[in-house]
Amino acid sequence: AYVIAQPCVDIMDKACIDECPVDCIYEGPRKLYIQPDECVDCGACEPVCPVESIFFEDDVPDKWSDYRKVDTEVFAGLG
Ligand code: SF4
Repeated sequence: AYVIAQPCVDIMDKACIDECPVDCIYEGPRKLYIQPDECVDCGACEPVCPVESIFFEDDVPDKWSDYRKVDTEVFAGLG
């Protein structure tokens, strides 16, 4: 799945939400989150992010490695 890394924090531009064909990008208090079970890996959200916060999970830069699993963890246990 694609994930949303640190640059989104306190920015939440939301351009990605309009692009996602399956509406799997959700709004948190400080950043947006991609629901990994719903994401179809289309990549449409990545180029529209004005702060380049979206990456395929395996391509998240090392400096933001903490964010590789943040989106997954947020949805874990929510059913
Ligand atoms: Fe939505 Fe596609 Fe981005 Fe996944 S990769 S969050 S399906 S726009």
